[in-house]
Amino acid sequence: MSAPPALPAMWHPLVRGFLDTPGAAQRVVHRYGSPAHLLFPQVFADNLHRLRQVLDGQLRRYRICYAHKANRSRALLRTGEHAGIAVDAASPQELAAAVGAGFTADRIEVTGPKGEAFLRQLVGTGVTINVDNLWELHRIADLARGHTRVPVLLRVSGFPAAAVSRFGIPLAEAGAALAVLAEQRDWLAFRGFAFHLDSGELGERVAAVQECLALVEQAYARDLSPSVLDIGGGFRQVFTADAARFDGYVAALRESLRGRGEPMAWGGNTFGFHLDDTGVRGTPVFHKYANTVPATGMLADLLSAPLDAHGGRTVAQVVAENLLDVWLEPGKALVDHAGITVARVEFVKRAADGSVLVHVDLSRDTVTPADQEVMVDPLVLPGPAGSGDEPVGVFFAGRLCLERDLITNHKVWLPRCPRSGDLVVFPNTAAYHMDLSAASASMHPLPPKLAVLHRDGGYRVCRDLEYEPVTDADRAVPGTGGRL
Ligand SMILES: *Cc1c(COP(=O)(O)O)cnc(C)c1O
Repeated sequence: MSAPPALPAMWHPLVRGFLDTPGAAQRVVHRYGSPAHLLFPQVFADNLHRLRQVLDGQLRRYRICYAHKANRSRALLRTGEHAGIAVDAASPQELAAAVGAGFTADRIEVTGPKGEAFLRQLVGTGVTINVDNLWELHRIADLARGHTRVPVLLRVSGFPAAAVSRFGIPLAEAGAALAVLAEQRDWLAFRGFAFHLDSGELGERVAAVQECLALVEQAYARDLSPSVLDIGGGFRQVFTADAARFDGYVAALRESLRGRGEPMAWGGNTFGFHLDDTGVRGTPVFHKYANTVPATGMLADLLSAPLDAHGGRTVAQVVAENLLDVWLEPGKALVDHAGITVARVEFVKRAADGSVLVHVDLSRDTVTPADQEVMVDPLVLPGPAGSGDEPVGVFFAGRLCLERDLITNHKVWLPRCPRSGDLVVFPNTAAYHMDLSAASASMHPLPPKLAVLHRDGGYRVCRDLEYEPVTDADRAVPGTGGRL
């Protein structure tokens, strides 16, 4: 018999080492309860180190602003502060968290739509405001008048070939924004242009860089002196450890949606595929889980991409010639593999159609970004004992009393059937999985966040809020041996 379809997860060696330590996860759950989110600040530091290596090789001046909204963890925020990077805060609460974690105004950038109250709070603090729209720009100038000069970036959007964005100033209005900046130069300290694309397409980013460079010229013409090009975030994560098996799983899933082979979808789910007489088409909601290009690869490709409008010189060369500092706002790329979520199996049952349901003590929105299906296999602890264990295809069900609270709507094959009390480990949950849709409708308390530190050959666990990075040795990831 061939192996059942599988979605093997990539694990960071440090996380893997923790899970392979007999009893380690069980002890954490025993002490802090289940479910729990576990964060690995050393993995964050490792991700940062890898991004810096790419940047150091190509740029003289750059700034990394960690997009805090990817995870509320203070341990990760403290790790970024300790490592000397900047932060991108997108709400008054994130700003307060950043200040509390030690970031000073010169290392804080505020992005996103802001509103009157937040703008009033920001003006005069010295943080850089990444401006979303013309109303905001006018308001900042009005609020600053007579008091202070406010550092601003202009976020632009609407690049050729890119999907329309609800954020930023359309390119067609950039001239009007520059006019305001020139007129209000006593109150607005213009730092440069910014964009943020949620796409993995190199061409879209290159086009955005090119448009921004053209805007830099327009700014010079108005006697403004931009010094920053902020290329945003959107650098991808790698979830899968085996792209071929991932593709094999999706192929089997598509067949099953056509009614061939073993059923693999719960309750008529089609995962964004379109089904008609001729087959299964379209892009599934879970496409990001197929990605195999790491953030460092995306970044290296962008920096070395040739620019048509600049005689084929690369992005890195042209920004250097223009004396521009490159700012980045990575969120998920910094927290990639820096978090897992552990839950406990309550019971296993069969549904009327024969499906095996593994009930765990958390709900779908604790480990799944809104509207997506997470396509990496969770790990069940303890692992198979050996003889007598048979692979079994299951659906994981959540604890909410709602039909839709299925943690996986796709079938997951496990090496053995779980038992009550086993632990289920959901991989790579730090970026947006943990917080973005975590609902409290059921009145279950939010799972605690814990920080796990590898030290002296063992693992130490404390509450996220209590974690303190201590030395540079925090960055050392033992046994990594290159990339993951
Ligand atoms: C969310 C966000 C980011 C971070 O995005 P990632 O995809 O997590 O890297 C960066 N910049 C802005 C403006 C954002 O809104």
